[in-house]
Amino acid sequence: MTNTDTADVVGSAKQVAELARAGSELVRLTVNNAAAAAAIPRIRDRLNMMGVQVPLIGDFHYNGHQLLADEPAAAEALAKYRINPGNVGFGHKKDSQFSSIIETALRYGKPVRIGANWGSLDQQMVASLMDENRTRVEPWDAARVGREALIRSALDSARRAQDLGMGSDNIVISCKVSGVQELIAVYRDLAARCSHALHLGLTEAGMGSKGIVASTAALAVLLQEGIGDTIRISLTPEPDESRTREVIVAQELLQTMGLRAFTPMVTACPGCGRTTSSLFQELAKSVQEHVRAKMPEWRLKFDGVENMTLAVMGCVVNGPGESKHANIGISLPGTGEAPAAPVFIDGKKAMTLRGEDIAGEFIAVVEEYVERSYRSRGSA
Ligand code: SF4
Repeated sequence: MTNTDTADVVGSAKQVAELARAGSELVRLTVNNAAAAAAIPRIRDRLNMMGVQVPLIGDFHYNGHQLLADEPAAAEALAKYRINPGNVGFGHKKDSQFSSIIETALRYGKPVRIGANWGSLDQQMVASLMDENRTRVEPWDAARVGREALIRSALDSARRAQDLGMGSDNIVISCKVSGVQELIAVYRDLAARCSHALHLGLTEAGMGSKGIVASTAALAVLLQEGIGDTIRISLTPEPDESRTREVIVAQELLQTMGLRAFTPMVTACPGCGRTTSSLFQELAKSVQEHVRAKMPEWRLKFDGVENMTLAVMGCVVNGPGESKHANIGISLPGTGEAPAAPVFIDGKKAMTLRGEDIAGEFIAVVEEYVERSYRSRGSA
């Protein structure tokens, strides 16, 4: 999801393109006012001119019905509308505003994501479930009532959308919470109670390693159980940090679990007292950065290159063994070892690198392997 002011067409298109080039397959933008809605078709046009085809999703709260009605070009340009049942509208207006968005989606042939969120729960629903809970012989605890409110809010809205004519397969559901165990419990329940596509994400996961670990812990459990169709890692970026970090984390989560492949992965040992220089850390970093930077070009040119595996190891203890398991592996000399770095290609020792430019020579070996081993796209 972008964090630019959507009304800033140039800045928003630039960030969407950056996210798409990092590998994002859907990009959501907030559509919070008339200027943002008017910007959407212009952002789409600009992206098309840049050759960026990534679908755009509009995130609507409170006034989505009005913005979509007033800006038909935005309704057309968006690939999906996200509606939060907790704040689609209030009181007697709520149902008509929800219906209006669904009718617009039907008119333009767009799917919707009905995204309930812990932070904006439908308070009417919570109150009625609290009443219902008081009548139980064994009342549920507050957390379970909260989970039920979230799920019912999403599923009741999905049912209303279907009553208005929307197909079940055009409805995506999400119920985001900020606690790992809560998220797992909510989605297990949700998956058992509906057949809609599910969008997973731990909301307000936080900054840095905490956000990454919490999101990964929750999503990995669900994905392992076959739950989830799209994912987002909601990271709070450091000031001036690129927004693409959440895309990279999402890809690495799926790739390390063996569910999808996006970019060649570099296996590297953690280092220990057997290697006192920082050479192997620097090599591992530069190789990972190099393959990630090359991927936009390689993806277009070479079929299957995202499955390539690389190993950069610090010494002879595990170096040659681990290197043999990768497509290309290098074992750098540990402290006291001969200053030579054997390179293994597809399990066989291919050469030994020495001297000052081991990094440059190893990257050249990787480049040559890609050209030789992955079929060019478009070739017979
Ligand atoms: S491969 Fe060598 S340097 Fe790396 S962690 Fe193992 S023993 Fe230490």
